[in-house]
Amino acid sequence: QSRFEQARFIPPDAIFALTAQYLKDSFPQKVNLGQGAYRDADGKPWLLPSVNKARQTLLEQGLNHEYLPILGLSTFRQAAAELLLGPELFAQRENKIATCQSLSGTGALHLAGLLLKACQNRLPKVYIPEPTWSNHHQVFDSLGFPCESFKYYDHERKDMDIDSYYSMLKQAEPNSVVILHACAHNPTGLDPSKEQWREIAHLMKARNLFPLFDAAYLGFNSGNLDEDAFAIRLFIREMEMEAGVCVSFAKNMGLYGERIGCFLLANNSKQTAVHTQSMLEMLQRSEVSNPPAFGAKIASLILGRDDLRQMWYADMFTMSDRLRWMRKALYDNLVSLGAPGSWEHLIRQSGMFGFLGLPPDIVLELRETYHVYMADNSRISIAGLNEGNVEYVARSITQCLL
Ligand code: PMP
Repeated sequence: QSRFEQARFIPPDAIFALTAQYLKDSFPQKVNLGQGAYRDADGKPWLLPSVNKARQTLLEQGLNHEYLPILGLSTFRQAAAELLLGPELFAQRENKIATCQSLSGTGALHLAGLLLKACQNRLPKVYIPEPTWSNHHQVFDSLGFPCESFKYYDHERKDMDIDSYYSMLKQAEPNSVVILHACAHNPTGLDPSKEQWREIAHLMKARNLFPLFDAAYLGFNSGNLDEDAFAIRLFIREMEMEAGVCVSFAKNMGLYGERIGCFLLANNSKQTAVHTQSMLEMLQRSEVSNPPAFGAKIASLILGRDDLRQMWYADMFTMSDRLRWMRKALYDNLVSLGAPGSWEHLIRQSGMFGFLGLPPDIVLELRETYHVYMADNSRISIAGLNEGNVEYVARSITQCLL
């Protein structure tokens, strides 16, 4: 008799299982459009030139492997907060902000959940868009929050369902948490317009809802981080709301495996900032003690040195620009090959992903017959496309649909 008799078998995460299946496939023209990791024009992981330069600088300076403080590298936390808010808003709000280095974006969401849990007598509801990144549910379910999905996407029109969004906000339980994708929504690639963000912010403020931003793709929409941080700054500056921001540098610095992120809480008083800061330290202590150092040192150097920061801005532009071209190339190929249906939705979307709107049997046929791998909901990582495979992918889709 084991004390773990009640353990259930949990199937592996779908996207990681898909990658494993892809890696085993020996077909020479196989294409992986599953995992949301940037790939260069040759389908290879891309070491950003800014990151490469920062790495060399660190090595020249002499890198040690001492512990970081529990809250993380202070230069990194400060630079990340300044980056998210922009220098002006940061200067105004510096003493009303709490920050904690986190295990990438996932760890930031988890820390946010831990803090909310530790500060509320009754766990608030967490409203999560449908569809979303699957881990949102797992992170908040596992902490015991009651989670509720709301309709974000209209499958018929292949567009955002902003009316459902507004009506959810009008009826949401006051004091609840709403998960907001700061930009480049995963998986749909569709974000509210600036006007729609304003309306969302007003509705949230009216019902005292807490905005918790998931900012995993800053820079991927427009190539310009300030532009992509619009919604975050709107809630904090214009609406003067308390807000949480879970930022990841996995994608926009290509530091996936280094697990570098930050949780930022914009408080509405100095005192809550001091208190929440101390609670974050306590929560981090019991969970990770000291966050990983290498990614923090790289990010801190890039954000803190003008030349490296400019290089990084150019790198983000390179990535977002290639994604834009490949999105357009897929669209053009589908149209010129006569793939049935309209593909306008593909070029309405932006960021890392394309949400094709294909039924599950076609997704399976693409995988089994054509060796084109994508998530079951037909989300593709545009980064997996390149000049060498985009026509093959479009042709495969067309053949499946004809
Ligand atoms: N949020 C979203 C929407 C994501 O797609 C991801 C990564 N797939 C993350 C957060 C977090 O990723 P990480 O923990 O690697 O930073």
